[in-house]
Amino acid sequence: MSVDDQALRLADEIAREYAEREAPVSEHSHLEELERSTARANSQDFLHTMITKEFAGRIAVVSSFGAEAAVLLHKVAKVDPAIPVIFLDTGMHFPQTLQYKDEIIRFLGLTDVRSIQPEPDHLAGEDPDNTLWQWDTDRCCHVRKVVPLDLALKGFDAWINGRKQMHGGARARLPRIEKSGTVVKLNPLAHWTRDDVEAAFRVNGLPRHPMVEQDYHSIGCWPCTSPTEGSDLRSGRWADSDKTECGIHPLGSRVAAGGTR
Ligand code: SF4
Repeated sequence: MSVDDQALRLADEIAREYAEREAPVSEHSHLEELERSTARANSQDFLHTMITKEFAGRIAVVSSFGAEAAVLLHKVAKVDPAIPVIFLDTGMHFPQTLQYKDEIIRFLGLTDVRSIQPEPDHLAGEDPDNTLWQWDTDRCCHVRKVVPLDLALKGFDAWINGRKQMHGGARARLPRIEKSGTVVKLNPLAHWTRDDVEAAFRVNGLPRHPMVEQDYHSIGCWPCTSPTEGSDLRSGRWADSDKTECGIHPLGSRVAAGGTR
């Protein structure tokens, strides 16, 4: 089977999986009700409800173990340190990120962190010499992040991530609950400010990513991450292009924006 055929097969499998998991028509109204019932909950209580009740056993966290990741992971670990945590190991991370991941796992006692790598044949066909990022970052992100995440999320109905409105761009109106395809995406820190994040690190004594002190405020793959100054925390990602997102966060349907810190 050629590499193109393998890529098509992967896409077909994912599409089939989504079709099989097609949500009932009533799900949107259920999510709206879920929003109403959790609208006044703070982030910790919101996570507790989602992890132990609403999506119990069917929910995962996706983390890049970047500059702000410890705040969300700390809250999640307080509910259930055994929750699956998906880390997209693109093969392009800074060594400091991989070390930080291990430090956070130890510090928080996480017991199910899954390092997900691109499918080897797919990667070998699309990016045999690891230079795809130099001329097609969208394709590179698709191979190294989007397809692996879709496969890793099989069997889950919801996933938690750490995006925040303060990141700007398409995230500026980020709701706390959104629908993306047939899965529910939960953004418990959507309305957090930079001060909230800093306070959470300080109060809880959370370890910092070692590159933060070198002005890296949003940290992804090394070819596409630069240090930044000023208030735009994500301006160091794909800094010389219009690209602002890797593709694992297509615009979902907005369900709810409630919640307190
Ligand atoms: S962030 Fe850069 S190196 Fe990483 S997958 Fe995307 S394009 Fe490739």
